[in-house]
Amino acid sequence: MAYQSTNPYDGQVLQTFAQIDAAQLEAKLQQASRCFENDWRLKSYAERATVLARAAAILRERSQEFAQLITLEMGKLIRQSLGEVALSAAILDYYADNAERFLAPEKLSTRGGEAMVESSPIGVLFGVEPWNYPYYQIARFAAPNLMAGNVVMVKHASSVPQCALAFERLMQEAGAPAGAYTNLFLSKDQVAQVIDDARIRAVALTGSEAAGAVVAARAGQNLKKTTMELGGSDAFIVLEDADLDKAVKHAVSGRMDNSGQACTASKRFIVVDALADRFLEKFQAALETFKPGDPMDKQTTLAPLSSAEALKNLLGQVEGAVAQGARVLVGGKRIDGQPGAFMQPTILTDISKSNPAYKEEFFGPVALFFRVADEDAAVALANDSPFGLGGSVFTQDIERGKRLARRIDTGMMFINSGAASSPELPFGGVKNSGYGRELSGAGIQEFVNKKLIRVS
Ligand code: NAP
Repeated sequence: MAYQSTNPYDGQVLQTFAQIDAAQLEAKLQQASRCFENDWRLKSYAERATVLARAAAILRERSQEFAQLITLEMGKLIRQSLGEVALSAAILDYYADNAERFLAPEKLSTRGGEAMVESSPIGVLFGVEPWNYPYYQIARFAAPNLMAGNVVMVKHASSVPQCALAFERLMQEAGAPAGAYTNLFLSKDQVAQVIDDARIRAVALTGSEAAGAVVAARAGQNLKKTTMELGGSDAFIVLEDADLDKAVKHAVSGRMDNSGQACTASKRFIVVDALADRFLEKFQAALETFKPGDPMDKQTTLAPLSSAEALKNLLGQVEGAVAQGARVLVGGKRIDGQPGAFMQPTILTDISKSNPAYKEEFFGPVALFFRVADEDAAVALANDSPFGLGGSVFTQDIERGKRLARRIDTGMMFINSGAASSPELPFGGVKNSGYGRELSGAGIQEFVNKKLIRVS
């Protein structure tokens, strides 16, 4: 697992980084553990908040610099990279402002004496993070846990080492003591070793089901708590009373933002018969307007996928779906004449239940389209998935939308919009999409010791 920055737009290798060796890893574990025991856990909320708020301010002051690094390493459109930097800053501020309130001691009513539950930090946490939102994913893990008094060690994806280092430097510059936030360039074997280490108290992973299964199993053997934020194949349901133009607008951004490489991207478009043809016509027309180009250029509307490998996998999935009877309504091929790994915005229809595509996650700009008779059929199809991350429903009858949302087996449902992440909204899924929550008040409760103190 080489840590290598490659520009997805032109395939140019920018920089490579060595994995750390055993002695360096041991030194970093010692430093993190010392920092937790002798420094960070002893600080007040206000002291920790000063560091996080400063980090947020630096992100905002130098947003261009941070955003360019994202675009350079994973190919996101520069305007979306700037959006990610702003969201990461908002998450840091949100926990700086609210952590003390979220973790305030709770007095219990009990017979005789006094009882309370206090939230104390548990120690050194280990996060394994993906490349698709290189700062946001880390902010989601680091901000609540640092504010809770834990210290964090992060193994970032091997394709975004410059972003990984930039975030570590950011925390240092913001005044975090050495060991509060540590970046680790690790091999997969070293990941297992870190999970086994007694100084690591819990593990959080965001990534694929495959990685989640390996990391959760290892942590389980060590009786360590985990949170798993894994893949998704979110349903995007359009009912007959939907505002069609609004639904199409969100369908396009839901499938195309980040070139479709988001866990909560809208992936399965389930439209009732009455609107299906008109939806499809407008959706197709909108997808045909995307223009590939350099993601650093503000005029570009279609960014490359994160790597040549990602494109190969996606094309393989499309070919597999077609071989089993799916029809390509639009797209379906790589875009030639561009240096990077560009995929045509694609719509697949006629996907039978036996087609592998029916249950797979498509991590790129490929929409799976399903036509259904009515609301009940839409719910049944949406739930017929191994995943349960998010989903959307479009209807002008909000109460109907809420009733339908309650019937969908996912961690998040959005009425009349695609999925959107915000610091105050809990993020996470059920089924093979994982367990646990990040963000909001829920996200800070995952790795704290809810300690009972009883006075008789
Ligand atoms: P991935 O391969 O699982 O990588 C994620 C992280 O896990 C990386 O740091 C990777 O390291 C590490 N990793 C992979 N296999 C490992 C193993 N056997 N042992 C230890 N570490 C391992 O994920 P991806 O394909 O890059 O990212 C896309 C997936 O993540 C999609 O399924 C997407 O839906 C999901 N995702 C979920 C969320 C969420 O919040 N639910 C958010 C974003 C993405 P290397 O890079 O070094 O291989």
